[in-house]
Amino acid sequence: MERREFGRRAIAGATGLLLAGAGRAAEDTMREIAEAYVKLVLALGQHDADYVDAYYGPAEWKGEALRSKRAPQAIRAGAIALRERVAAQPAPDEFARLRRTYLDRQLAALVARAEFLGGARLGFDAESRAFYDAVAPTHTEAELDAALRELEAVIPRGDGPLAERYSGFSARYRIPREKLDAVFQAALAEARRRTALHLELPPGEAFRLEYVTGKSWSGYNWYQGGYRSLIQMNVELPITIDRAVDLAAHEGYPGHHVYNALLEHHLVNGRGCVEMTVYPLFSPQSLIAEGTANYGVEVCFPGAEKEAFEAEVLFGLAGLDPKSAPAWHAAQRAMRTLAYAGNEAARRYLEGRLDADAAARFLETYTLAAPERAKQRVRFFDQYRSYVINYNLGQDLVRAWVEKTAGPDPSPERRWQVFASLLASQRLPADLG
Ligand SMILES: [Zn+2]
Repeated sequence: MERREFGRRAIAGATGLLLAGAGRAAEDTMREIAEAYVKLVLALGQHDADYVDAYYGPAEWKGEALRSKRAPQAIRAGAIALRERVAAQPAPDEFARLRRTYLDRQLAALVARAEFLGGARLGFDAESRAFYDAVAPTHTEAELDAALRELEAVIPRGDGPLAERYSGFSARYRIPREKLDAVFQAALAEARRRTALHLELPPGEAFRLEYVTGKSWSGYNWYQGGYRSLIQMNVELPITIDRAVDLAAHEGYPGHHVYNALLEHHLVNGRGCVEMTVYPLFSPQSLIAEGTANYGVEVCFPGAEKEAFEAEVLFGLAGLDPKSAPAWHAAQRAMRTLAYAGNEAARRYLEGRLDADAAARFLETYTLAAPERAKQRVRFFDQYRSYVINYNLGQDLVRAWVEKTAGPDPSPERRWQVFASLLASQRLPADLG
């Protein structure tokens, strides 16, 4: 509207006004599009309990979604039409370009999720491309066997298959249930302390920690808005000492809690990007969320600092002997080559090439998971399907982007800065190339 009004004034100096007016009109249109996107996500969430991972926008929009009861087909049609409006928007700078791509790719995933809820099923790679805009590499059994052979040398010798030997070995590094809280609190405090040294956390940010059981995941961050998170740790199965820092950094600092708080601070409050008040789980944003949460562990604890902190602080708090730490750390380093085996199990299981029991056995063999842990992971595949790629592929894509952007051999400080710029942006997998 403003554009037309200014357009009628053919006077000297009107160009600036004309451009300003056009800018405002474009901003209004983007705000409208963003609001429509949020409402479509909330509407689809009415059909899928796992879909809306977080929402802290206007309460009346949620009420509207509840009342309107739009069918997935109608939501799908709305998203397709909205994508066309997004594509027609100008993108004069990097911020506008990332915002336009963000809305476009998130809407494309929403369309795919609506089709999934309508009964459509894709192959594993086609599904991960449709939901997360990424495809994980495949690994043959020969490659996985080669990785296992390397582990043979690191896991203490004994009778029985490698997985059994590893299970006996890892039992020595479990955190006793009554020491879990002290260990997690220490890991979270250290991860927060280190993060706060390098990036500015929004004022008043805080989290609440809860222990739960009966979940298919090991930890979860439920972002509440207002820079607050509820972090849940699943304590149903034994937790080994290396997982404390992993979970603290992944769910808390500089992982999910910080990612969400920085998005709210810089994009929602700073730039009025209302689309960031909702987080649809089955969307490309999840690859950035999980990728940054996993990669954040090594940003926060570079080099051997995680191992040193565990040996010096956490082993003692868990009642474990710090002198036994080097053997465990060597095994954990060797285990990294198995990171992609879980994707293979999920791919084969979801494509019907393995049943649930065979998938669990595959996980026991190639990730050395204990039988109960393997069963828990198969339940995760049932619930979240190709979401599994977001962890390891996400981590690798985020690492590659940070290293490319930071330049060769970046200092830890430079790496923090580039990493923080990713956390506070709308960058998606499509923008990591
Ligand atoms: Zn996560």
